[in-house]
Formats: sequence, C-alpha cells, structure tokens
Amino acid sequence: MRPAFSAALAKAVKTHLLSGAEIVTLLQAGGREAEALFRAADEVRARHLGDTVHLRAIIEFSNHCVRNCLYCGLRRNNRRLPRYQMAPEEIFVAAARARAEGYRTIVLQSGEDPRYQAAELAGLVRRLKTELNVTVTLSLGDLPRASYRELRAAGAGRYLLKHETADPVLFARLRPETRLPGRLERLTWLRELGYQVGAGNIVGLPGQTLRALAADVLLLKRFAVDMAGIGPFISHPDTPLAGCASGSLELTLKVLAVTRLLLPRTHLPATTAVGVLHPEGRARALRCGANVIMSDLTPTPYRRYYEIYPGRTRSVVEGRGSFAWWQEELAHLGRKVGKGPGRP
Ligand code: SF4
Repeated sequence: MRPAFSAALAKAVKTHLLSGAEIVTLLQAGGREAEALFRAADEVRARHLGDTVHLRAIIEFSNHCVRNCLYCGLRRNNRRLPRYQMAPEEIFVAAARARAEGYRTIVLQSGEDPRYQAAELAGLVRRLKTELNVTVTLSLGDLPRASYRELRAAGAGRYLLKHETADPVLFARLRPETRLPGRLERLTWLRELGYQVGAGNIVGLPGQTLRALAADVLLLKRFAVDMAGIGPFISHPDTPLAGCASGSLELTLKVLAVTRLLLPRTHLPATTAVGVLHPEGRARALRCGANVIMSDLTPTPYRRYYEIYPGRTRSVVEGRGSFAWWQEELAHLGRKVGKGPGRP
C-alpha cells in the first residue's frame, strides 16, 4: 500500500477529518487499498451505528418537472416519457400500505412540479402524521423558503435536497437555469427551519474529477448533513448525455466509504442506483458504510415512469412485500431492521 494512503486512512479513522488531497488519495485506492478502505468504513459504521439498517418507503408521486437537467430522464424536454401525477388521496393510500407492511418513514419524492401547492402537500403531511404516525421525509427539489416553512410546520421532519455536484462549473452546465450557491442556500434554509437535512451527489458524471468528488465529501462534512444519498451516474438514452459512460460501482463505493469515515453517524443509503449497476451493489454498499435502504413503494402503474435513469425497476424487489423481503435479506448480511424511525 502507498504510505500516503495508509496515513490518510489512519487519520480518517482517528479524526474523521481529511483534506481534499487526502480524500483524493483514498479515492485512488485499488486492490488491497480499496479492500482496506471498505473494511475501515464498515468498522466505523458498526462502531457508531451498530448493525441496524433503516428501511424507508419512497413514493414518487409525480414525474413532471419544470427543470431540464442534462442527466435526468424526467427533464422537461424529454417528450418520450409518459407523465403522471398522483392525487393526494392516492398518495395517502400508498403510504398507508407501506405503514401496514412495517415502514415507519415515508419519503415523498417528485420532480419540481408546480401543480402541487405547499398548502395541499402540507395537508397531506398532517394526515400522514396524525393517521399513520410516520416520519415524513420530503424530496421535492427547489421551493421557496415559505413553502419549506409551511411543510415543516405541518410536521415534515426531513428534507432531501441532493447538491448533485460541488463543482460549480459542472453544476451550472448540467443543471441549466440553476446555480450551486442557490442550492446550498436552500440547504441552509432547511437547517434553519429545523429539518433533518439530506444532501448527496452523483458519482461518475462526464467531466467530473476526483478533486470534484473530494469537494462533494467535504461539502457533506461542512453542512454536517443528517443524510447523504450517493449514487452513480447512469446514462439515460433520452437525454443529452445519452451514450456517455456510466459511473463505476467501485468509485461510487469508494466515495460512500470515505463519506462514512468523515461522517460516522450520518444516514447513508445503499442507493437504488448501485443496485442497478450490479445485482450485488446494494449488499456491497451496506458493507462499505451504508445503513439505510430506500424501497420504492410507488404504485405499480406509475413506478416504471419515474425514470430518472433506465433500469430502476429491475434492480431489486420493490413494492408490496418488500419490507419482509428486506428483513430476510438483511439477516443474511448479519444486519437487522431498525424498529423506530431512525434518528441520528
Ligand atoms: S434532476 Fe430533479 S430537478 Fe433535474 S430534471 Fe430531474 S427531477 Fe427535475
């Protein structure tokens, strides 16, 4: 092993602090170094969070989006995607099904869809809280501060707003009409409003460097995020990035592992996207620091149309019966399902 690698790894395990250059050294790991990195992240996860894995039910209730991100199949210029919008009552019924299976956290996710006003969503959040007694996580993209406030007052406890990339030039190129500082300002608002805040990034974007990935990890550290979704770029054929090489599983796992070393108590999902890259992807992520599974409980007629990237619905068992399936699967990995809502 390179001496610089060993030194950076030992420092990360001991202090949970690294410079950008040290993170790059860890991300360059191959062979035995990568094994050592993954093992260290798994040990940090076990020491700080134990063997519990938190299962979240995600309901993707609208695939309409006013944005035009180059990497995303939901972009407004993708005319080939059939679009859907679930009514609040349908969303509630899907959430009630998830609750009956055992899920205690409901994640409501959508594209940036102005059809849903904050007041309407706030009413739904209140109902989920009072009738189902679940923790509600929202992932609705950029909203005005007043909307975040209204949803928080209704009882939403967590908000997931991935920063996607900490490289401002790449961000502006891939997310037209938006800028990184605006995204980061929203993360600050969410924190000020009392949400548990989630961010996260894409690994393997065209033009992305290891230094940019190191900046992603440092951004997660700086914001002391409660959650971080880290997944590979997967090229979608109906976007301007069609035909670009997808991100690699190995590099994604390395970014995940380094994030675990720097943020020992943050919730890190084994993302659906790593399961799409490889059938063992999620199991491997759970051995590299991950402690959360997001299971897709979007009703069947809609699920296949939430196509941010291709292949999502092929990845693992989703939908009804997934809670029991994951319980069994996690037992094979020596892990157990969290009983409570799973606060850090
Ligand atoms: S990444 Fe989000 S904001 Fe961008 S097009 Fe896709 S759903 Fe819309």
